[in-house]
Amino acid sequence: MVVMKFGGSSVADADRIRHVASIIKAYKDEKPVVVLSAMGDTTDHLLEAADLAVSGKVDISGVEKLHRESADKLGIKIEAIDDLLEELTQLLTGISMLKELTKRTRDYLVSFGERMSVRMMSAYLTNQGIPAKFYDAWDIGMISDSNFMAAELLDEVWENIPAHLNGYKDGKDKEIPIVTGFIAKDKKGNITTLGRGGSDLSATMIGSAMKAKEIQTWKDVDGILTADPRVVKEAHPVPEVTYEEAAELAYFGAQVLHPRSMMPCIKSGVPVRVKNSYNIESPGSIIVENHSGEVPKVTAITSVKHVTLIDINSTRMLGSAGFLAHVFNNFLKWGISVDVIATSEVSVSLTVNGKTDLTGLLQDLDHVADVEVQKDKSIVTIICDADHSSAILASGFGALAEAGINVQMISQGASKVNITVICDDDEVNQVVNTLHKAFFG
Ligand code: ASP
Ligand code: MG
Repeated sequence: MVVMKFGGSSVADADRIRHVASIIKAYKDEKPVVVLSAMGDTTDHLLEAADLAVSGKVDISGVEKLHRESADKLGIKIEAIDDLLEELTQLLTGISMLKELTKRTRDYLVSFGERMSVRMMSAYLTNQGIPAKFYDAWDIGMISDSNFMAAELLDEVWENIPAHLNGYKDGKDKEIPIVTGFIAKDKKGNITTLGRGGSDLSATMIGSAMKAKEIQTWKDVDGILTADPRVVKEAHPVPEVTYEEAAELAYFGAQVLHPRSMMPCIKSGVPVRVKNSYNIESPGSIIVENHSGEVPKVTAITSVKHVTLIDINSTRMLGSAGFLAHVFNNFLKWGISVDVIATSEVSVSLTVNGKTDLTGLLQDLDHVADVEVQKDKSIVTIICDADHSSAILASGFGALAEAGINVQMISQGASKVNITVICDDDEVNQVVNTLHKAFFG
């Protein structure tokens, strides 16, 4: 059994759906379980429709047109989609009357995207002589907590999924399951979502619970690359990364996988393969527990733009115990999440998302520290084997020095697979290219 996950851009229109159907067909004998995202940008469009509804206007014409036209082009008639569109209109009408939108309603609303795409795909496959059956995630036991918009799957999911899909794995059920990514239900029956991009987690959860041979996530590039190909022309595929490296890649900006999606695999050991839907023959990249051969010194370089760098220098608490505790208690108080940190005896530098409102935090810290805030910074992360950190730092920083670039903060994560530097937004592409050249030639 394999799990095959296709994201929104892979199923963006009728042509792409046809193409994905042909890939599924090619894997028919491997007993695929297919996990789909909503078509194209449907999730974003549903969220826009929700905002419109709050301001009193009901309009789903864009979403409706995409789904109806695609169904027409695919030559399928799907009553189930008519029903969903009807339900969606009613929901938006309700929102437009109440003029408010809770997180719970938001999740219910975006769930329509995935629910429509699986119906479309299963109808089309069946029409093509490949019997398929759609499932809303809860039909196979995807139960979560009630933390709407970022729900966590409950442990029972590990047993629920096989209870529903073992018949297919054993060959008793013949229809290929086409399952919604991204969504689940809580114990009370409310629809929840696993957070944006959560379909990856749905796929790794299903694959792990089913002990699949592998979990495939299909993209439009040859797997995981050494850098963002829009930034580095010479970026090339990485054949193998570990779960830990993949999670770091995701946290630090590579558009590979949802950061949380590695969690089920770390438990199950099921490998994840990142494949290119435009190049089926290419093996792509495989994500595994441990490297099969020699651990590469540097795996990839990623970057995240538009972060804010905060330098906090202790004044009153100079050298006294509890300075860091005090600083971080204030971050906790204001609910501000920190990404990268470097510390010295009397100071701490850290980064936060550039959109964070720092007003309250800065007022509180004012009593104990000199605080300097610098906006428009970037985090560049070298995903690497930290056992070689000295050599990596030497060649990387040698190259940066030669290029005349001074980076501002360096930090090595405890996970031992990343080294992070901070630079200005307008220097970041040069930094990434310089490092890429130093490490990959
Ligand atoms: N459709 C959802 C989103 O756009 C989930 C996903 O694609 O993984 O975030
Ligand atoms: Mg998506």
